[in-house]
Amino acid sequence: MKINTPFQYTFLTSLVSSLIIVCSLFIVLEFYFDKNLSLDAYFLLFIIVFLLIGLVVYFLLEIFINRKIRLLYRMIHNYKMSKADLKISMKDDIFYATETEILRWAKKNRSELVKLKKDERFRREFIGNLAHELKTPIFSIQGYILTLLEGGLEDESVNRKFLNRALNGVERMNKIISDLDMITKFESEKIPLEFRNYDIVEICKEIFESLELKAKENKVRLSFTENYDRPIMVKCDKSRIEQVILNLVMNAINYTSANCDIIIRFSTIDSNVLIEVEDNGPGISEKDLPRLFERFYRVDKSRARNVAGSGLGLSIVKHIIEAHGHRIQVRSTIGKGSTFFFSLSKV
Ligand code: ADP
Repeated sequence: MKINTPFQYTFLTSLVSSLIIVCSLFIVLEFYFDKNLSLDAYFLLFIIVFLLIGLVVYFLLEIFINRKIRLLYRMIHNYKMSKADLKISMKDDIFYATETEILRWAKKNRSELVKLKKDERFRREFIGNLAHELKTPIFSIQGYILTLLEGGLEDESVNRKFLNRALNGVERMNKIISDLDMITKFESEKIPLEFRNYDIVEICKEIFESLELKAKENKVRLSFTENYDRPIMVKCDKSRIEQVILNLVMNAINYTSANCDIIIRFSTIDSNVLIEVEDNGPGISEKDLPRLFERFYRVDKSRARNVAGSGLGLSIVKHIIEAHGHRIQVRSTIGKGSTFFFSLSKV
């Protein structure tokens, strides 16, 4: 018989000890004192001893279990427990239940620990990155102000130029802070989106028009895969989606070299419209792809520094698309180019 519950344990203890007591009594009375008791008397004695031992063991066990198990539960749940909070039934497999509960608690603690460690590493990286990003503009502002104070202010040929450069530094810092502020707001869901029906083709055409000059300067071509002369209506927050597409196209312009093509493609999949921004630039290596949408992440730190970005653009893009209930992804091959793609709900 497998003993799992305190009740079973009490029953067995009481049975074995009553048998031992009654048998010992039988031997002592029969063989030493030569007294003969009837079988009924022995049976009655056995029942009385069995019940007495059973009751004592039961209550002692209950007190012991209640104290120890409640202590364990109090420790793992970190709060006080009254008798009513934790009902221990002597007929249940209380040790198995406690073991399961403790294992669950240990597992939860372990995953919390992993999460805390990850958060800690993320915080450390974040502060390091922020300090790193702010250092460049702060040093340049400091340099220009010092030069101005040391006589540059009176030199008409440089004073305006240096003040403008210091202003650029301030603007760069401002951009980093406002980008971070936006990411934080997205993360705490404090940015309400205004969903309406818009023609995504029209939005992209407007963005291409606004970037025409920049594309010409960088000698890259902006185009669509086909002549989208019919509207493709999607449900979105127009200004946010403009921000997404602008960012993707700007990145494609910034990180590709002359003579590259930047192409936008639309395709309808079930109730969604897939929007792809493709370029045939240098591409991104496989090891960088999973971290691309992290804050401050840049692929080639030295090359990316020539472009006035902060590594926050794609993080904002990801938050905007996720706030629309969709996902953004990227596929890329070194030497062939990159394609960033996301979907929006079709109207
Ligand atoms: P940044 O402000 O530096 O542009 P993003 O978050 O927009 O930051 O982009 C992160 C990094 O991803 C960039 O620094 C760049 O190295 C890489 N990247 C983004 N788009 C492309 C692209 N189309 N081709 C190659 N690399 C890209």
